[in-house]
Amino acid sequence: MLRTIAGFDRIGEENAFAVLARATALAAEGKDIINLGIGQPDFKTPGHIVEAAIKALRDGHHGYTPANGLLAAREAVARRTLTTTGVEVSPENVMIVPGGKVTMFAAILIFGEPGAEILYPDPGFPIYRSMIEFTGAKPIPVPIREENGFAFSAEETLALITPKTRLLILNSPANPTGGVTPKSEIEKLVKGLEAHPHVAIMSDEIYDVMTYDGEEHCSLLSFPEIRDRLIILNGWSKTWAMTGWRMGWSIWPNQLYDKVRKLAVNCWSCVNAPSQFAGIAAIDGPQDDVIKMCKAFDNRRKVVVDGLNSLPGISCATPKGAFYAFPNVKETGWAAKQLATALLDETGVALIGGPDFGILGEGYIRLSYANSEENILRAIERMDKFLTK
Ligand code: PLP
Repeated sequence: MLRTIAGFDRIGEENAFAVLARATALAAEGKDIINLGIGQPDFKTPGHIVEAAIKALRDGHHGYTPANGLLAAREAVARRTLTTTGVEVSPENVMIVPGGKVTMFAAILIFGEPGAEILYPDPGFPIYRSMIEFTGAKPIPVPIREENGFAFSAEETLALITPKTRLLILNSPANPTGGVTPKSEIEKLVKGLEAHPHVAIMSDEIYDVMTYDGEEHCSLLSFPEIRDRLIILNGWSKTWAMTGWRMGWSIWPNQLYDKVRKLAVNCWSCVNAPSQFAGIAAIDGPQDDVIKMCKAFDNRRKVVVDGLNSLPGISCATPKGAFYAFPNVKETGWAAKQLATALLDETGVALIGGPDFGILGEGYIRLSYANSEENILRAIERMDKFLTK
């Protein structure tokens, strides 16, 4: 019997990938599957971005790049950050990493160990908790409540901080709820954090361009008072429909930068060179496709929310960001995960049970509306038949 570290008895998964695998297998058997499970844009990566990667390969960019990424890519991220947040960051604080997930992996590894506490949103992206458990740190869920518009509450968050807290994970616009935390609440949180200088903050802003109804994304970067302990997670996956390219970026404070750079040297060496050229083209090129995608998500959001609210036992708050709806299914009489399984098996609609995003996800399901309006309407029709039978 091989003896492995205890962390692997605790590490979790992202059930969206399991549902994707099952949906794909059912489709291969000839079943008509509508996949509202996985969170990835259904659009193609814009052509000029693909061309930039092809050109990079033709031009001979086949080798290693610096572990923290090409300077040109880091400069592009700094330019983009200035445009979207008005905040100047140095390319020396930017890391190019293989996907958004890698930043949370690095941040949690840097701070997590037995005896430490890490705060994370519940319901929230499942890998936060999984990685916290892996390190042996104690996961402390910050409740994200429907009655609060799925925003986090500064007061509730601050009340959970103890001398053992090492890291606070924030996510707005949020997965799985689509919640956007208003600027006033973030200001309150930052003010309160002044009393806890031992706490680092990782703000996952991967859905920053996807806000609706005039709601504005407020980056934690806007607060210079926490810059020396703030990690920003962002990336190309969602904004430019590049999930399979594995391209993310993060912004690190000086005191942590060398740690993550060394982690890169020890693990992934660098992100593949042609993808980095694609990343530069994505940031510097025309943004028409991004605008078009966000507009399409906004339209589908209305379709999915109206559709869900017409179903018996289901009520859906209007999400203000990302591309997820997180309807309340408590009145259907189903437990959320059983409902998700039954819907896939009996109607071919793939979606995710709320408990896959945390204990407070019970009573909810997550639908990704990164799918065509036609498919969303077909899915609602099938769900209606299933719930009324
Ligand atoms: N953060 C959040 C909130 C996400 O929803 C996701 C992906 O679903 C990620 C990070 C990871 O993104 P990537 O696919 O670039 O690793």
